[in-house]
Amino acid sequence: MEEILYGTGVVLGIGIATVKVLSSDVTDDLKQYEAGTQVLEASRLANAIQTASADLIQLKEAAWVVGQQKQADIMDAHYTMVNDPELAANIATKIEQGSAAPQAVLAAAEEFAALFDSMADSYLRERAADVRDVGRRLTRLLVGSGQIQYGFEPVVLSAQEIEPSLAAGMPEDQVRGIVLGRGSTTSHTIIIAKSRSIPVVTGLGDAISRITSGMLAIVDGHTGQVILNPTPEHLAEYQEKAAAEAARKYQDSQVATLVAVTKSNTKVQLAANIGSPADMTAAIKQGAEGVGLFRSEFPFLGRDASPNEEEQFAAYKAVAEQCGQHLCVIRTMDIGGDKPLHYLNINKEENPFLGLRAIRISLTRPELFITQLKAILRAAAYGNVAIMLPMIISAAEIAAARRFVNQAQVELTKEGKAFRAAVPLGIMIETPAAAVIARELATECDFFSIGTNDLVQYTLAVDRGNPAVSSLYSHFHPAVLRLIDGVVKAGHEHKIWVGMCGEMAGDLLAAPLLTAMGLDKLSMNAPAIPRVKEVIRRFDDEQMRQVLVKALTLKDANDIRSLLIDFVQQAE
Ligand code: PEP
Ligand code: MG
Repeated sequence: MEEILYGTGVVLGIGIATVKVLSSDVTDDLKQYEAGTQVLEASRLANAIQTASADLIQLKEAAWVVGQQKQADIMDAHYTMVNDPELAANIATKIEQGSAAPQAVLAAAEEFAALFDSMADSYLRERAADVRDVGRRLTRLLVGSGQIQYGFEPVVLSAQEIEPSLAAGMPEDQVRGIVLGRGSTTSHTIIIAKSRSIPVVTGLGDAISRITSGMLAIVDGHTGQVILNPTPEHLAEYQEKAAAEAARKYQDSQVATLVAVTKSNTKVQLAANIGSPADMTAAIKQGAEGVGLFRSEFPFLGRDASPNEEEQFAAYKAVAEQCGQHLCVIRTMDIGGDKPLHYLNINKEENPFLGLRAIRISLTRPELFITQLKAILRAAAYGNVAIMLPMIISAAEIAAARRFVNQAQVELTKEGKAFRAAVPLGIMIETPAAAVIARELATECDFFSIGTNDLVQYTLAVDRGNPAVSSLYSHFHPAVLRLIDGVVKAGHEHKIWVGMCGEMAGDLLAAPLLTAMGLDKLSMNAPAIPRVKEVIRRFDDEQMRQVLVKALTLKDANDIRSLLIDFVQQAE
């Protein structure tokens, strides 16, 4: 019989397929396990602890990045448990007594959990579930059920949570949808699903147990509904919607080969924002003209130490090569703010967004900065690379960064490593200070890229990650629009190109305004490229100029948004 479960849709789209439940029960996998000698079991355990620790740090930092403090705290607690010396000693004793590592882990975790079960304090009692979770995480790593076995049929995956290491192997043409009991709406698993356009509904809680393998399920990422065993009418209705979406995706893929030009033949470059070389597949598929923002701090997250020069060089080179003749803009690390790095040992700050962040860290940690600059300069020998500095507020910072670039070149020359010296150096305009003094800054650098995510939060004094004030956060606020307009003019007066790589660049409502202001490049998440391109191709320059003039006379962000909705729809 049909049953509808309600959660939160976090990746839009509709998926229909039979369910594959990813069980937290590891008993079946245990049967396949071949135990080795005591020494081998002990070393397998050590490896599993190491991998689990790395996974948990990654999960914690991914949660931190998006302000999900509670989720980050849970991951932190799990990390502490995985590395608990008492638990480790208990597991080791069991292995010495002849248990295989997975059984030893499960038994020790159960004993530990039973202790929590018996506690009077309800908070501590709840920790029993965490210990069992940690035991299963280690066991799954030990028995090698770390990867999902896919058959040939499409599936909807259902689980309490899916670790990013499991999600990374999801084939996008086969996984039609994902249903999760819990999981932060912006975890790395969700980010992976988003980049592969796999619809996701999360937050089903215990209702997830109502879903069993083999059921037919519809995942509606728009409404957050999961329809189990749908009626024939419901199924037909959703099949029609899914077909319309598939047609839309096909259209997008056709648009990918078109150029982003207005009806008057004005060209806007559309590039991709990426966080790792893996994101290049989607970028190329959507027809990105290079990379407008490589958030180079992502490879620094989820580790115990920063990547060395060779590791960074390999990542930058891979992306530069895939960009071909197009520009690949590598932003130097934007650590701090919402992306803390525990191994940098930065003192806890009252106000991290206003503290040691981005260029401020780079300029005070020469060893980190120069290593990164050397890796970028070396990668530049393999493509068309530019360096971009985040969070700039003064010309002095650009000059200081330039000195480090020179020093990096001197070191590379001494070391006899190949590199390109003539690499453009640009800055992000993401502080009101930089926007206001854009004219002065334009003489110091080769390009501007406007980071609206921060520019909006700093201009409006509205935390970009705080849901309590999210209704005040809008890139259509007149103050923001006027700053952007001024930055484009300042850049062009000094003959440098001006791009945008904040979320506003991927907002199709903003596309006519930004094109009319004269932005040369818009860089966005790859899936947004075809839609923005379509909007740009719909109008001539005069139409867009008129809507810009009108928008700049309005006093309220919501009125500007409504004006743009009408404008964009009128030509549909
Ligand atoms: C921005 O601030 O708009 C930007 C692109 O940088 P990030 O989102 O990484 O802070
Ligand atoms: Mg920013």
